[in-house]
Amino acid sequence: MVDSVIWDIGYLVSAALFILGIKRLSSPKTAPQGNRLGAYGMSLAVAVTMAKLYNEGIIGLELIIGGLAIGSIIGILMATRVEMTGMPELVALFNGFGGGASALVALSEVLNRIETNEIPLEGTVELYATWVAIGLSGLVGWLTLTGSLMAMGKLRGGFYIPFTKKDDRGRSKWVSFPTWGPPWLNVVKSILLLAGFSLIWLSINDPTNKDLVYALVATSSLLGVLFVIPIGGADMPVVVSLLNSMSGIAAAFTGFVIGNNVLIIAGSMVGAAGLILTFIMCKAMNRTLTAVLFKSFGGGGKESVTRTKVGSDPEEVAMVCDGITKCVIIPGYGMAVSQAQHAVKEFADLLESEGVEVQYGIHPVAGRMPGHMNVLLAEANVPYEQLIEMDDINSELPETDVALVIGANDTVNPVARSGDGPLGGMPIIDADKARVVVIIKRSLSVGYAGVDNDLFYENKTMMLFGDGKKMMNELNAAIKEL
Ligand code: NDP
Repeated sequence: MVDSVIWDIGYLVSAALFILGIKRLSSPKTAPQGNRLGAYGMSLAVAVTMAKLYNEGIIGLELIIGGLAIGSIIGILMATRVEMTGMPELVALFNGFGGGASALVALSEVLNRIETNEIPLEGTVELYATWVAIGLSGLVGWLTLTGSLMAMGKLRGGFYIPFTKKDDRGRSKWVSFPTWGPPWLNVVKSILLLAGFSLIWLSINDPTNKDLVYALVATSSLLGVLFVIPIGGADMPVVVSLLNSMSGIAAAFTGFVIGNNVLIIAGSMVGAAGLILTFIMCKAMNRTLTAVLFKSFGGGGKESVTRTKVGSDPEEVAMVCDGITKCVIIPGYGMAVSQAQHAVKEFADLLESEGVEVQYGIHPVAGRMPGHMNVLLAEANVPYEQLIEMDDINSELPETDVALVIGANDTVNPVARSGDGPLGGMPIIDADKARVVVIIKRSLSVGYAGVDNDLFYENKTMMLFGDGKKMMNELNAAIKEL
C-alpha cells in the first residue's frame, strides 16, 4: 500500500514536470529549460518504473542495468554524433521507436495473456476495454514504426545497403523510395484500415486466437508503408508531425494496457501536441490533412535544369548592399547544410552598423524540420524579435531593397502560386517582390520538392554560386573592404 503511494507520487511529479516543460517550450527563451524539465520528468518516470518492476519481482537488477546501459549508450551516441542536418531523420526514427515500443508492449501483453490464460470473461466490459486498448496500441504502434522508417528513408534520400561497393562519395548502394500514389492505392489503404479494425473486433470474439494478432501486426505494418509512400514534394513536414502525434497516441493506449498513468499522460500530451503541430503545418502548406494523406503531390520528380544563369560575385553584391535601408534574410535548408548561421549573423551586424534595418523571413517549412531555422539562428544569437513569420514579412518585402536568400529554394519558388505540381498552392515567402534578390546556393539545382525555380533567372536576381558559409564569409569580407 505504502509502495503504491510512493510510485504514484513519483509518477505525479514526473507528469507535472512534463506539463511544466511543455509550457516552457512555448517561448524560444524558456525552451531549453522546458527541454531539461521534460528530460528530468522522463528520467524520473523511467527510474520509478524500474524500481516498481524490481520491487514487484518482475525484472532483476541485471536486466535493469543492462537495459539502461544499452539504451543510454545508443541514445548518447546518436544525439552527439548526429549532424544538425540529420536531425529530422533522427526525429523520424525516434517517432518510429516510440511506436515500435508501444506495439511490442501490446504484443507481449496479449501473447502473455493468451499463454497464461489471463483473458477477461467473454462478453465483459473488461474484455472489450483490454482487447480494444491492446489492438489499437498495436495498430497505431506498428503503423507508426513502419511509416516512420519510410519517412526517415525519404528524408535522407533512401537507405544504403551495407557491404555493397561504395560509390565515389564513399556511400554504399542506396535504395530510394519513389513518391508513388496511384488513385487505387487509397482503396487499398482504406481496405487495410478496415481490416485492422475488423481484426480487433474478431479477436474480441476469439481472444485466444494468436493468428488474428499476427495478422494485425502484418496489416498495420503494411498500412504504415502505404500511408507514407505517396507523400512527397513539400508535404513531408505534415507526415513527420502526424507520425510524432501517433507515437504519442500509441503510448497512451499502451498506458491503458499496462495500467500506467504516466504513460497515458505523456502519450496524450505528445499526441495532442503533435496533432496541433500537424494542423499548423497543414495551414502553412495550404493543404487539408485529408488531401495530404489521400492525394499524391510529389509526382513531379527531380527536373533536370537546362537553362543557364551567369553568377555574380561577392564584391558586386557588397556594392549593391552599400547604402540600402532595408534587407530581409530568407534562410533555408542550405544554410543548415553549410552551417552558415554565424556568418549570416555577422552579415546582419555589418549592415546594421551602417543603419540598415535587417529582418529574417521564416517560412514554416524551411529546412527539414519544424522550427529548423529558428533553432539555427538562435544558436547564432539572432534576436528572436527579428525572426518574422511568413505573412508578416510578405507585407514588408515590396518595401525591401535586398532579399538575401541563403540555401532556400522551394519556400521562395513563385511556381507555388500557380496551384499546380508538387508545390502548387503552398504559400511562399515573396522574395521576388524585393527590389533586388540575392540567392546563395551551389548551383541552379532544385530543392526538396524537385521543382525548377524561375526566380533564379529573373533580371533582378543575383546568384552567388557556392557553399553557403563560404559565400557569406566572402560577402562579409567584401563589405568590410568597401
Ligand atoms: P529546399 O530543400 O527547397 O532547397 C535547399 C537548397 O539549398 C537546395 O536547392 C540546395 O541547392 C541548397 N543547398 C544545399 N546545400 C547547400 C550548401 N552547402 N550551401 C548553399 N546552398 C546549399 O529548402 P527550403 O528550406 O527552401 O525548403 C524546405 C523543403 O523541405 C520544403 O519543400 C519542405 O516542404 C521540405 N521539408 C521540410 C520539412 C520541415 O519540417 N521543415 C521536413 C521535410 C521536408 P544547391 O544544391 O544548388 O546548393
